Amino acid sequence: KPTLYIVATPIGNLNDITLRAIDTLKQVEFIAAEDTRHTRRLLSQFEIETSVISFHDYSSEESARKLLERIVNGENCALVSDAGTPLISDPGYRLVSLAPEYGVTVSPIPGACALIAGLSAAGLPSDRFCFEGFLPAKPLQRQKRLASLAGEERTLVFYEAPHRIEALLADMKMEFGEQREVVLGRELTKTFETITRGTLAELVDFTAADANQRRGEFVVMVAGEQAVKLFDDKVKETFALLNEELP
Ligand code: SAM
Repeated sequence: KPTLYIVATPIGNLNDITLRAIDTLKQVEFIAAEDTRHTRRLLSQFEIETSVISFHDYSSEESARKLLERIVNGENCALVSDAGTPLISDPGYRLVSLAPEYGVTVSPIPGACALIAGLSAAGLPSDRFCFEGFLPAKPLQRQKRLASLAGEERTLVFYEAPHRIEALLADMKMEFGEQREVVLGRELTKTFETITRGTLAELVDFTAADANQRRGEFVVMVAGEQAVKLFDDKVKETFALLNEELP
């Protein structure tokens, strides 16, 4: 069966590649990668010699169709991105969405994903959550998007680049209020991994005070509005009880 495999690769720690990912990358006829040089470096670590071609979301629709034709003609393909799971804030959407038209089976080879790694260690409600990926880079648009999310009850998850982390936290403090709980997952799976919890007010100060805490890659997770209310209600209840009990 002509198949396009969607293969997750590590988000920092090379040992996070799965055995199935290695097997698949070895067995397919070719690999479509976001950055061929980056991917070739990863492949050489695992002695994988499969040929690599370049594929982005800004590649033309025609190049996506050509790739799918190669698969139909008997060459199975693995899609990888620079890190983590393809299509999660990474290229591949057009390719996967066109695959059924060609009768190409799409098969995921799951593995590392920064949002799931972050959420699994954050200690915020994760039974329901809302992944917002990267916010708009322009301050006004970013603030507008955040304002529209201020009432969201589910845990919110964002990706952010190091040069915008301070601005993002400042905007969040403005739109969500300084008491909203936030967790910063920085450099997950890497040597300088840190996971920091606190209110937005606390984490704005924390990142301002230490340049190291503004470096690297970030997953930013924010408690939903409901969680804040639940917390507030609990605090009010406790105070009411204390008031009754205390002389
Ligand atoms: N496809 C990837 C995934 O599955 O997580 C995400 C790719 S996206 C272009 C890159 C962003 O993911 C970074 O800017 C950062 O927000 C987040 N990220 C990737 N690796 C990370 C890591 N090791 N620690 C924290 N965040 C990470």
